[in-house]
Amino acid sequence: MSADRAPASLAAGTSTPPTQVFDVALLDLDGVVYVGPAAVSGVPEVLGEARRDGMRLAYVTNNAARTPQQVAAHLTELGVPAEPGEIITSSQAAATVVAERMGPGARVLAVGGPGVAAALTAAGLTVVEQAEDEPVAVVQGYGPGVDWAQLAEAVVAVRGGARHVATNADATIPSPRGVLPGNGALVGVVSAVTGQQPLVTGKPDPAMHAECVRRTGAQRPLVVGDRLDTDIEGASRAGATSLLVFSGVTEPAGLLAAGPRHRPDLLARDAGGLLTAHPAVNAVNGGWRCGRWVATADGEDRLTLALAAEDGTVGAPVDDLYGLRALAVAHWARTGEEARPAAVSAADDDAARALADWGLGGR
Ligand SMILES: [Mg+2]
Repeated sequence: MSADRAPASLAAGTSTPPTQVFDVALLDLDGVVYVGPAAVSGVPEVLGEARRDGMRLAYVTNNAARTPQQVAAHLTELGVPAEPGEIITSSQAAATVVAERMGPGARVLAVGGPGVAAALTAAGLTVVEQAEDEPVAVVQGYGPGVDWAQLAEAVVAVRGGARHVATNADATIPSPRGVLPGNGALVGVVSAVTGQQPLVTGKPDPAMHAECVRRTGAQRPLVVGDRLDTDIEGASRAGATSLLVFSGVTEPAGLLAAGPRHRPDLLARDAGGLLTAHPAVNAVNGGWRCGRWVATADGEDRLTLALAAEDGTVGAPVDDLYGLRALAVAHWARTGEEARPAAVSAADDDAARALADWGLGGR
């Protein structure tokens, strides 16, 4: 790792694998390490190799329900050996914020799964269960057992002057049956009744990234995530480099349509992108070229992707996202601060196949 290296960007790429450029990978869990009950194929091996290359790993989650011990045990079971100290939850970020603001030993009402109360206790705060115990803060995180009585307790405490702190504001959580109410939805119940806006500490709030840096001592962290509005925005707001992986919720069309805060610095199919160099995207006659792919903006709102006839400048592709990188750089160069969907067409059959593969229309 060298300190004088320019930060990675989608246009600049990295001349060596990220494991050699960044000291710590801050890995999101759902959509990066696992999807539902199973590990993302190949990722346990990738993370083992990243570790052998000298990169430290930490696992960062907005899901406040589970304790770090539970998360570490789950990861180990999936073939990703992890210690509780390597898990960073939004409950812990909330506990740090409350301890800093309210002082050690402050009384806090916990609403959510066991991870919430455990984090508060670990931060030296006193967990209480009733508004009558005069908590100075209410920390609310996700928990499948949260019920009306707990929400009512939170409302009474906040109306009595306690600061409302939410571990995250995600309105939904994914499930095999489609989306279900996330913490943000239940936080909304409390704030709708109290009229008080909560302080949110999970991704994308910089408090979460600060917690990660504090805990890992990272000098040059790389945020690895699958969501633009939490992982990538969180990195962007904290000034950290980000790697977007397509093993989770984001599709190429959503990536192209992203505004500045949601634009990642690096792209990969999955966390395997930690182990490979990332190609640069260079300006060529009126377009942008990555490997053999050239993206050109033609007219007001259309991009064209073409495969160049020959190429003597690059070796074998490290992945199949060269053309997508060229499209993203071309589109973002044009849209600037605006978040705008891209209309993309193919100049040849190879480009048409690539666009179909990414769900981006065609000729
Ligand atoms: Mg995720």
